[in-house]
Amino acid sequence: MTEMTAVEQAESHLRAHAEAVTVPGAAECLACYMARMLQGYGCDTTLRWAQRFRDLRSPRATGLEERLGRLGGYCDCELFMNGIQLARHQLVRDLATDELEQPSELPDCAGVRPTSTRWCTNWERLVGW
Ligand SMILES: [Zn+2]
Ligand SMILES: [Zn+2]
Repeated sequence: MTEMTAVEQAESHLRAHAEAVTVPGAAECLACYMARMLQGYGCDTTLRWAQRFRDLRSPRATGLEERLGRLGGYCDCELFMNGIQLARHQLVRDLATDELEQPSELPDCAGVRPTSTRWCTNWERLVGW
């Protein structure tokens, strides 16, 4: 019996779809990718998105976890709480409070070289660290 049942076909289609949407874009940077995955799938308290990015785009960047850890990013979401934030030019002014705030939608990635694990100009180090 080699034919797939309809259920198996649907499941294999879903898996292929999940694979495709969790692949980083050709010039998408690590941080934009991680932010996009966190919005869609959340953090599982590991660096799974950072590691997926590394495995797919820059497998030789074996020091990545250590580098993120130095920024306070011991899991994917911590990088954005402790390490980096959207750069000022990506923030939007809240007219009610006159404060600069994160935009509700992530900006498009400004792009990096295909094998780079740096982030694009959308991101900057958190001040005070
Ligand atoms: Zn986390
Ligand atoms: Zn980016």
